[in-house]
Amino acid sequence: MRQIIIIGSGPAGYTAAIYAARAQLNPLLIASSVEAGGELMNTTDVENFPGFPEGIMGPDLMMKMQEQAEKFGTEVVLDDVESLDLTGPIKSVTLGNGETHEALSVIFATGSAYRKLGLDDEERLSGRGVSWCATCDGFFFKGKTIAMIGGGDSAMEEATFLTRFADKVYVVYRGDTLRASKIMQERAFANDKIEFIYNSTVVGITGENAVDGLTLKNSVSGAESHLEVGGVFIAIGNDPRTHLVHKQLDLTPDGTIAVAGRTSKTSQTGVFAAGDVIDPTYRQAITAAASGTVAALDAEHYLSTLPQALLSQAVLSQAESAAPSLVTATLSN
Ligand SMILES: Cc1cc2nc3c(=O)[nH]c(=O)nc-3n(C[C@H](O)[C@H](O)[C@H](O)COP(=O)(O)OP(=O)(O)OC[C@H]3O[C@@H](n4cnc5c(N)ncnc54)[C@H](O)[C@@H]3O)c2cc1C
Repeated sequence: MRQIIIIGSGPAGYTAAIYAARAQLNPLLIASSVEAGGELMNTTDVENFPGFPEGIMGPDLMMKMQEQAEKFGTEVVLDDVESLDLTGPIKSVTLGNGETHEALSVIFATGSAYRKLGLDDEERLSGRGVSWCATCDGFFFKGKTIAMIGGGDSAMEEATFLTRFADKVYVVYRGDTLRASKIMQERAFANDKIEFIYNSTVVGITGENAVDGLTLKNSVSGAESHLEVGGVFIAIGNDPRTHLVHKQLDLTPDGTIAVAGRTSKTSQTGVFAAGDVIDPTYRQAITAAASGTVAALDAEHYLSTLPQALLSQAVLSQAESAAPSLVTATLSN
């Protein structure tokens, strides 16, 4: 049994691990089998994470976070959590390889997934003109003509924000009436850099090494057309990765895990949540990292309130799995 298991290897999970490891809690971090490192593995330059004035490639930043977490004693497992039992004082976490790990506390940091259009070109050109985050990438599109896909509040807000950089922003929407609130629509309509293209779905993104255009299909006439753009932002929704805890933790109306105030405390004692999975609004690497800190400190405080017998049991079984002969020797003395 562990004192703490962290699920997720994005900025929230690794930051929680750095704090927990430095507090001598020997965390086990379940990183995922194919998506270790989280969302930043899908991007190129990250220019807004403090400490890197020249910018840093997303995958390099995540490798550094993993290295820092492991340096202080975090054990990283490249597997997926398949099921969880978060009730009671001892939590259990079952992995894809069939192993079950127990812990006195769990930090849930599984992030959230931007909805995708489902086109092959979208993956191929991700970070090369295809983006889901105007705050992160808008700066790279100075003086360009770009497209925003979506018709909700986020699409309107991001399209308006992008006009600070781009010369022109096409908003491409599949329906004939936007879903966004009246006020957001009006703000976008009043912006002369924004032009709306209705009844259109994106059926292709073109460009060899960088986006150079979109293939649009008109849903009324069925006709296809080419729109020349130097980038495309997609704002068609976001899904917090909460399916593992649906019946075990309270969620908010936004679908994120509910936490108490500014803490990371979920509706289940001993279970903490951090990063984009609790955040319907900010969703940045630095806010996720900060939230990981909060979760580690909350977990550390929670563990300090547990009966000594339970803590000793966790420490002992951790030591046992690390060095069985040493523990046997200690126990027999
Ligand atoms: C293309 C792109 C570019 C971006 N650029 C920037 C940028 O420049 N600057 C910035 O600040 N932000 C940027 N962001 C946003 C930033 O990536 C996120 O806000 C941040 O990664 C959230 O961190 P997180 O730790 O909460 O979640 P994530 O990074 O999403 O990590 C969640 C982790 O949990 C793992 N996981 C999920 N389910 C399981 C499971 N069942 N078992 C095990 N592991 C699991 C995932 O595999 C993943 O490793 C960008 C996002 C994208 C998509």
